[in-house]
Amino acid sequence: MELINIIGGGLAGVEAAYRAAKEGKKVRLFEMRPKKTTPAHKTDKLAELVCSNTLGGIDITTPRGLLKAEMEKLGSLVVEAAKKTAVPAGGALAVDREKFADYITQKIESNPNIEIVREEVTEIPKKGITVVATGPLTSDKFSQFLREYLGEEELHFYDAISPIVYADTIDYSKCFWGSRYGKGGDDYLNCPMTEEEYERFYNALMEAEKVPLKDFEKACYFEGCMPIEEMAERGKQTLLFGPLKPVGLIDPRTGKQPFAVVQLRKENREGTLLNLVGFQTKLKYPEQKRVFRLIPGLENAEFARYGSIHRNTFINSPKLLLRTLQLKKNPEVLFAGQITGVEGYPESAATGIIAGINASRLAEGKEAVYPPETTMIGGLLKYITTANPKSFQPMNANFGLLPPPEKRIKGKLNRRKYLAERALRDLEKWLRELS
Ligand SMILES: Cc1cc2nc3c(=O)[nH]c(=O)nc-3n(C[C@H](O)[C@H](O)[C@H](O)COP(=O)(O)OP(=O)(O)OC[C@H]3O[C@@H](n4cnc5c(N)ncnc54)[C@H](O)[C@@H]3O)c2cc1C
Repeated sequence: MELINIIGGGLAGVEAAYRAAKEGKKVRLFEMRPKKTTPAHKTDKLAELVCSNTLGGIDITTPRGLLKAEMEKLGSLVVEAAKKTAVPAGGALAVDREKFADYITQKIESNPNIEIVREEVTEIPKKGITVVATGPLTSDKFSQFLREYLGEEELHFYDAISPIVYADTIDYSKCFWGSRYGKGGDDYLNCPMTEEEYERFYNALMEAEKVPLKDFEKACYFEGCMPIEEMAERGKQTLLFGPLKPVGLIDPRTGKQPFAVVQLRKENREGTLLNLVGFQTKLKYPEQKRVFRLIPGLENAEFARYGSIHRNTFINSPKLLLRTLQLKKNPEVLFAGQITGVEGYPESAATGIIAGINASRLAEGKEAVYPPETTMIGGLLKYITTANPKSFQPMNANFGLLPPPEKRIKGKLNRRKYLAERALRDLEKWLRELS
């Protein structure tokens, strides 16, 4: 029987291994720890949580709540382990990280279809089906191999994420659509500021609390992903020549060029998500909400993704991957986890399940598949494989990834409930059709 190679025993790798093994396939799971470790991992356990111990909300009206409900329907080992090792955390699913990793390690070690090889992989095996799930801290040697294999430009070592807001939470009466010097049509939503508004925004930005950089993240600033607050520290005028530059933009309501302008760009084809251009930041999440809501039009904006800057290895998935997670240039190779440009524990694990399903199907000579785009997993897969490859940055689960309801539904909670129930129904239908 054909052996499936899985590289990386993190959240995505264990899901892929577990799923393929459950389908009766022989799996070889490579994990480099403890021989070689990453700057964030501390143990030799599989599926170690490197930072917080929460996997997000429980209720299906929260994005990660829906994602986990879908994963459970797909037989997720990570969700099973999280439920068995949960600690009280209000509306969130938080875990005892030691017990969580122990539970998963034991399940994988005791699985007769899985062989664990504790070795660093430095290249993709030439033959056979392989899932690459080496995560945000992929080893240097393997990163170097991937750069050569995929192309110099297609592997990123840092993310520089600008916040994204839900389009339906913006006050459009204060903004206008248009591009600088009229080039490019209505590509940008412009939020104009008066001098007083800029002053207020600038002062709030300067006073806001930041997340400290870890040592291994410091190099990032030299790679052109300067946080907005760092730019502001260089002087009050700096932002007016950077992301808040007003030149070439005329406010149709006044016929004049505003003092400053924040530009937002559509993040997906449906236009349900808008990205604050050039606003990559290390501000704490509550501070982002407080400061960025001072931008005219965003007073009540809701954030689908907050800004961040991390050491993060990820590939240019919109260019390189099919929605089935197969590599376009070699469909026997699949990618899963954070390296595909999804962001977060459950998001990474979810793509691992899909890679496991597809690795197993390919081993049987069947076609690879992906869940409907009305599901949170399907929405994530659609996003990472159809986003603009030129500005691609990682994405977490959020309701803006799903097609809007077919009918008008009043109230945010009702709308989310509708979307979540539709997602779970569509996933069940998809699973029935697969079997
Ligand atoms: C510092 C940091 C903090 C984070 N904090 C959070 C958080 O609080 N909440 C959240 O939701 N997400 C967080 N993330 C993001 C992300 O969700 C997690 O990193 C998640 O673990 C990703 O899952 P993964 O399976 O893709 O990668 P990982 O879980 O990192 O697994 C990858 C595995 O591959 C192994 N490996 C790497 N290279 C090789 C190689 N060449 N050969 C063999 N094995 C290899 C690694 O040792 C590791 O075990 C954080 C990321 C980082 C870097």
